[in-house]
Amino acid sequence: MPCRRLVAVLAAVAALAAGCSPEGGTGGSSPAPTAAPTSGAPAGTVATGTTSPQAARYTFPLRGCRFSFSHGHHDYPATDIFAPRGCTVVAPVAGMVDEVTTSDRWSSRSNRGAERGGLSISVVGVDGVRYYGSHLSSLAAGVVHGTRVDAGRPLGRVGNSGDAVGVPSHLHFGLSWPTGPGVWWIRRGVVDPWPFLTSWRDGGNRSPAAAVRAARVRAGSSTPPCSVNC
Ligand SMILES: [Zn+2]
Repeated sequence: MPCRRLVAVLAAVAALAAGCSPEGGTGGSSPAPTAAPTSGAPAGTVATGTTSPQAARYTFPLRGCRFSFSHGHHDYPATDIFAPRGCTVVAPVAGMVDEVTTSDRWSSRSNRGAERGGLSISVVGVDGVRYYGSHLSSLAAGVVHGTRVDAGRPLGRVGNSGDAVGVPSHLHFGLSWPTGPGVWWIRRGVVDPWPFLTSWRDGGNRSPAAAVRAARVRAGSSTPPCSVNC
């Protein structure tokens, strides 16, 4: 376990050893990493804490097509990545499939929040971040709750299901902390994905883990009530 390794490496730094808390899990209520030692090669890895985002490799969530996206989203933080219908949606990082919605039940009459995404999928990454993609036209075979995925694993195809019917096909992309099932108002996005998407698009490897942890701390709860576009 990374924890044990950290403790071994930092045996001399007693104060830091105390900050070595259990990892994984949901929410990440204690981000822990604070003062990094000023000497020694492992300092960088220590500072990243928990599920070592430095080890995570990121890739852009669309593959094999032209796409475009802009800074900003209506009502809450997320990014709509416009792309041709059928473009392949891939896991942006290794992790485990969380929630999968396999049928489109949305109707303009009921307009239920839980159904607006149409066909959708979320992956909880090894970095502790939940990645959500919605409005898909189809889901990849064998992608169910609990499926382990590598970065770049196809998850489905771009479409305009849910409340995206009638607008150009796009992938709604949201970043959040993991929650229990059905917490769609968190799952849809709590942190602006734009800086991370631009990094991955340009070959970078910027991790959203710290931003998502900070948002979770600010929220004060893993399931704060829906407050906008509910
Ligand atoms: Zn959207």
